[in-house]
Amino acid sequence: MIEATSLTKRYGAKTAVDSIDFAVRPGQVTGFLGPNGAGKSTTMRMIVGLDRPSAGRVLVNGKPYAEHAAPLREVGALLEAKAVHTGRSARNHLRSIAATHGIPRRRVDEVIDLTGLHSVAGKRVGGFSLGMGQRLGLAAALLGDPATLILDEPVNGLDPEGVLWVRGFVRQFAAQGRTVLLSSHLMSEMALTADHIIVLGKGRVIANATVAEIVGSTQTFVRVRSPRIDEVARRLTQPDVTVTSVDADVIEVRGLPADVIGDAALSVGVALHELTTVQGSLEDAYMNLTRDEVEYRTTVTPDAALAEGIAR
Ligand code: ADP
Repeated sequence: MIEATSLTKRYGAKTAVDSIDFAVRPGQVTGFLGPNGAGKSTTMRMIVGLDRPSAGRVLVNGKPYAEHAAPLREVGALLEAKAVHTGRSARNHLRSIAATHGIPRRRVDEVIDLTGLHSVAGKRVGGFSLGMGQRLGLAAALLGDPATLILDEPVNGLDPEGVLWVRGFVRQFAAQGRTVLLSSHLMSEMALTADHIIVLGKGRVIANATVAEIVGSTQTFVRVRSPRIDEVARRLTQPDVTVTSVDADVIEVRGLPADVIGDAALSVGVALHELTTVQGSLEDAYMNLTRDEVEYRTTVTPDAALAEGIAR
């Protein structure tokens, strides 16, 4: 369980995290979303005591991270996929972390197996691919057999098989009654992995709900295909109905249910070749939630955007 209360981080005049409250509960995967610069990494760093809050607090299993006698056993964290530049083998790298935390060597072998690093455990970490580095980071996070896992962009650099593996892994981890907080910019992946979503925007919580609730808040539309689509579109024209032409024979209709559209087509004697109700995706919901951010971004000049991108 992670609980943030009025959690705030300021860097000089910049408020990176602006008095946020949220809880990350055990037994489910919580996704952490938000545009670049929204404050996700800063929040994650404060959870694991790498950054001090300017105000407010964040507790892990009832205490600030640093006050736990064996923090590695409380929280495992994979933050920013930084390559570990070391000549050590993966096994020795993990052994050195284990040794400084009083974790037995057999646990090193267990996490190597758990993360699929067996075949490369004897190889130099410095030569690892990003994907292998991610698995190694996850292995290190799991060393203390923690009740809570915090993963910042864990599928970055992984191949499709690796992405699938991380998804299965965190789902299983949460199913054991543990807590998972996970950030990702891959919305389709998040929709498949997370149960609950917290969205940050400009340092504030702009959504905190289940994936089903967030997806349910998107507008559905109806996709209609017909060789005489113009006649259908004309028949549907009325206030509060939006008809968008998608293809020569396809329209998308917002504001009317499929049965009304089907009846309207029949009334003008036009055959429909498709009539599909489409629910918005998590990505659509996310885009709606963060539209203000995006508008703000598109108003900056390309040079400023570039500089901003580099600054991050
Ligand atoms: P996210 O992880 O959502 O992309 P961050 O937490 O990295 O966002 O950043 C939030 C804001 O705080 C950004 O505007 C970023 O530039 C700023 N920021 C982050 N770390 C620092 C720092 N060490 N010094 C100054 N500003 C920072």
